[in-house]
Amino acid sequence: MYTKGKSDITVSVCDSDGVTVEIREVLDSFGVSHSIGKEIGRGGQGLVCHTQNPEIVVKFALGANATLIDRVKNKAEFKKANDEFKSIIYKPFPERIHIAYPMARLADYAGYVMRFMDDMIPYSDIVPLDESGIKRMAEDGGYRRRFELLFKLAAEMSKLHGAGMVYCDLSPRNVYVTADPKGLTQNVWLIDADNIFIPGEDPDKLVYTARYAAPELLNGSPCSQASDVYSFAVLAFESLAALHPFAGEKAMNGGECNWDETEPADVAKDNFEVDPQYSGKIPWVEDVEDISNHTKDGLPRQFFLTDETFDLFNKTFSECGRESSKTRPTAMLWARALAHSYMQCVRCPDCNMSFVYDSQEKCPWCDENLPQVLILKDEAGRKVFAHELVFSDQGYGEEFFLHEHIVALFKIDSFFSKLIKIRTMNENGLGIEFRLVQENCTAREFAIAVNGAEEKILSAYILQPKKDEAYSLKCYDKETGFSRVLAIEVVGRA
Ligand SMILES: [Zn+2]
Repeated sequence: MYTKGKSDITVSVCDSDGVTVEIREVLDSFGVSHSIGKEIGRGGQGLVCHTQNPEIVVKFALGANATLIDRVKNKAEFKKANDEFKSIIYKPFPERIHIAYPMARLADYAGYVMRFMDDMIPYSDIVPLDESGIKRMAEDGGYRRRFELLFKLAAEMSKLHGAGMVYCDLSPRNVYVTADPKGLTQNVWLIDADNIFIPGEDPDKLVYTARYAAPELLNGSPCSQASDVYSFAVLAFESLAALHPFAGEKAMNGGECNWDETEPADVAKDNFEVDPQYSGKIPWVEDVEDISNHTKDGLPRQFFLTDETFDLFNKTFSECGRESSKTRPTAMLWARALAHSYMQCVRCPDCNMSFVYDSQEKCPWCDENLPQVLILKDEAGRKVFAHELVFSDQGYGEEFFLHEHIVALFKIDSFFSKLIKIRTMNENGLGIEFRLVQENCTAREFAIAVNGAEEKILSAYILQPKKDEAYSLKCYDKETGFSRVLAIEVVGRA
């Protein structure tokens, strides 16, 4: 509940006369007043502040030269913005989608009130654009956290696209993520719902951040779901490779652009001359047909790419993907591929960096020997899961989870629900505990088979791996009759 308190915090912003206005409190269209809290972010289009309610934030839309739009002083502009917010409020957003969209309009300024979560940071904070950003990956969750945030972002995009909507201006500054890298729940929220639209309702809708924009937008074509997924792919590649997907040799030596910029460009189309290298007219840094823009810059691709994610990047950034937006992979395919990457990610306890596991014995980052790794393989012998096993001196060690999509068909609403908690234990010898997350397992049965002899998991099963024994995890879906058998292996030195 909102409780009115005395706040000393104000936000200062220039009005259209060039006068600085200090705002301490705002009234919304329902007559509720909100005390202004700390500023979260400010860009060309708007200024977002916390309020005293930790779940509510206020956005002021800004006019020309980033000035406040006042109901009385700027009548026409205010009405235009206000009408747009009304139309966003009535859009058919899917339930529980993580997009901060308007709940109420501001009464005296162009802007609105929206629900948002506390303790979030922009994704741009964890896009490693220099050496220090890469070093921070050891502390900020590395690839494992990035895969999780990216598959969740792709899932939100997929839900939005499934409802027939387009986000428009996807960039690392418009994505907010849980600030604490160790937080048990990593949330992803999209801000800036102003530009969300339904194709057809506004045939000229065109808003973008040049660095992340699909090539057709730069030629004046309107935003589309296909341009959204292109932006997603740039954002994903850049944050995993520490390199923009087109910042290769050809771009560097072309002398036409400045790739050293550390801030993503955040510019409207009117006042920005687009760099030719963002145009989609040069090959990407991993192009399979034209190597002219290949580069050794950025992080080694094998640390984070799987065959599946490489295929999606290539379908998006190849000449065909750049020129024919319809051939680009959908957000759902991205969610699935990155969820697979997450499930195959191993972290090195020595340097704390993570990577996609490919049967390495040594950490590719620091060259230290890796600990044992738990692996699950599907019926065709393909690795679907890998996680390091870190044992504590006594009792339980690290815990991690098997997600639904490992044993079931991929569903965008539930694929990352946690079905089984796995943890190492050191008690009368080393063991691996498989514990059902009961509330998510009501429709499924699980069993562990040792040399073919099955034992149903009622609540937990402790596996103490021995040589010459074969193990598997069986999952049976009571509703669909779908079942899976995954071979369990523990590899590496004990
Ligand atoms: Zn290492």
